[in-house]
Amino acid sequence: MPIYEYVCPSCDVKFEKLRPMSDGRTATCPSCRQEAPRVFSVFTAISTSAGGESQTFAGGGCACSGGGACACAAEA
Ligand SMILES: [Zn+2]
Repeated sequence: MPIYEYVCPSCDVKFEKLRPMSDGRTATCPSCRQEAPRVFSVFTAISTSAGGESQTFAGGGCACSGGGACACAAEA
């Protein structure tokens, strides 16, 4: 199941929950028990797609440690 991110509209709490893909639109807020709408993690999307220049592919400085999932593995 994918992990979705939610923000509660009434108490502004941000939380993540494992939800089935067919039922991921809302989740119950852990602090006020209200239905909270799902949000997309904008910060993650920006750092991975637009932050290419700041990544350290050369010199083995990548944080992925060559696990194969990172693009740096193909470079080496
Ligand atoms: Zn809440």
